[in-house]
Amino acid sequence: MTIYRNFINGEWAESASSKTAQNINPANTDDVLGTIKQATREEARRAVESAAEAFRMWRTTPAPQRGRIIARAARLMEENKEELAQLLTREEGKTISESRGELQRSINVAEFCAGESRRMNGETIQSELPANFAYTIKQPLGVVACVTPWNFPVAIPVWKIAPALVAGNTVVFKPASLTPATATRIVELFEEAGIPRGVLNLIIGSGSEAGDEIINHPAVKAVSFTGSNQIGIRLYEEVSRRGAKVQCEMGGKNPVVVLEDADMDLAVESTVQGGFGSTGQRCTATSRAIVVNEVADRFVERLVERANNLRIGAGSDPQVEIGPSVDENQFKTVLEYIDIGREDGARLLCGGERASGDGLDKGYFVKPTVFDFVTPDMRIAREEIFGPVLSVLRVKDFDEALQVANDSEYGLSSSIFSSDATRIFRFVDEIETGMTHINSPTTGGEAHIPFGGIKATGIGDREQGSTALDFYTDLKVVYVDYTGRKREGNLY
Ligand code: NAP
Repeated sequence: MTIYRNFINGEWAESASSKTAQNINPANTDDVLGTIKQATREEARRAVESAAEAFRMWRTTPAPQRGRIIARAARLMEENKEELAQLLTREEGKTISESRGELQRSINVAEFCAGESRRMNGETIQSELPANFAYTIKQPLGVVACVTPWNFPVAIPVWKIAPALVAGNTVVFKPASLTPATATRIVELFEEAGIPRGVLNLIIGSGSEAGDEIINHPAVKAVSFTGSNQIGIRLYEEVSRRGAKVQCEMGGKNPVVVLEDADMDLAVESTVQGGFGSTGQRCTATSRAIVVNEVADRFVERLVERANNLRIGAGSDPQVEIGPSVDENQFKTVLEYIDIGREDGARLLCGGERASGDGLDKGYFVKPTVFDFVTPDMRIAREEIFGPVLSVLRVKDFDEALQVANDSEYGLSSSIFSSDATRIFRFVDEIETGMTHINSPTTGGEAHIPFGGIKATGIGDREQGSTALDFYTDLKVVYVDYTGRKREGNLY
């Protein structure tokens, strides 16, 4: 049986801890992938110290050389893509085609970041004074902690680790406790790509102990976190209090707006894709369908028909369209929210229970669920469920749709289905989300395009794309006076 190990200062070593947990396939709880030994606080401290020591060397390694290692890691991910995708499906539960997609995104991100290593440019700026100019340089921060969730256990770590390393930082990576196997493989591939000792460290441990120790260590100059609001806000308070940099990407309650002039087939297909893809366990998953009354009956009828026909099962079967919830806790949370929806008076149209029979009894499967006549004050319309549960909210017109869509603490993603350019562009201007999609699902992103949310979803610089390195660098301004004389006059 595999025992997951920490990677500290270039060495793989089993934790001394006696606290253990099993890594279980959520599609079949008889299938145990391995054992986690929860890293101790002392091990977490050693990981930070090794990263701090390695920083002195890594920061002076030219950025294109750092980028070459990241490019090699991208090639290794490509070579091992299928094995990693199978492991991801077995560990997290998503379908095999979703896992392959996640791997491709990770490869794209690593390639993009490798390219950025040759573009870490500053700017030159003319001074008001003759024979004077200024320029800017981007410098690394030091040790960066990357704290990641289980729902994209390959792509999210890669989109934090790759830019952090390219920028010249050293990293302590703390993955979610539920996904140690994929985390281990990513780090192994970076090691094989030639990452020097101490530059990338992995701690397999709980958030409340090892994670807490890492983020509060004074040598950690920045924390990049993706996860829930509950943890993220607390982490932000703690880390920013000691003056370190923090970036938090958190939850979503993403709306799709369907107007009367929408292509109805496209709107339904995209809502199904956004709502039930990855079992609703995407931060950008569609969880609210806000539909104008005029077309609501038609929309709902087709939506329910499609939801009822989705093939549920183990993601390793290529025919399967919707996998399990990631673990027993998440499974129970989803079922609890279904009860809350019923109690609050929403009309349950399909699903609403665990899926069983046909080999599903050993997994955490929930039937795709649609609630109709949901009102904006209901908990299922306000809180992130993170499962295959979609709420339909009926509205009278576009203005009410916009108002309901914005009536959320979250602001990650959104989409609108319409053929009216005027209302589409008003939506673009007024929707309060960091990303919005026109006539396509709320989900998805690309390596070279910034990703992230506003309002309670996101704090700090955007990840990926042209902004990927912003969080991981400090900007230094340099003034150059080549007059050789005492400055005449002052600069204000
Ligand atoms: P989570 O429970 O907040 O955990 C995220 C990470 O934080 C895990 O590695 C966790 O470790 C760690 N952690 C927990 N307590 C900590 C502490 N006191 N100090 C330091 N680290 C700590 O989130 P999750 O359930 O894994 O992920 C689902 C959430 O992520 C959803 O809300 C989803 O919307 C969000 N998400 C957002 C985005 C985005 O880009 N906006 C993308 C993907 C996911 P343990 O696993 O050991 O508890």
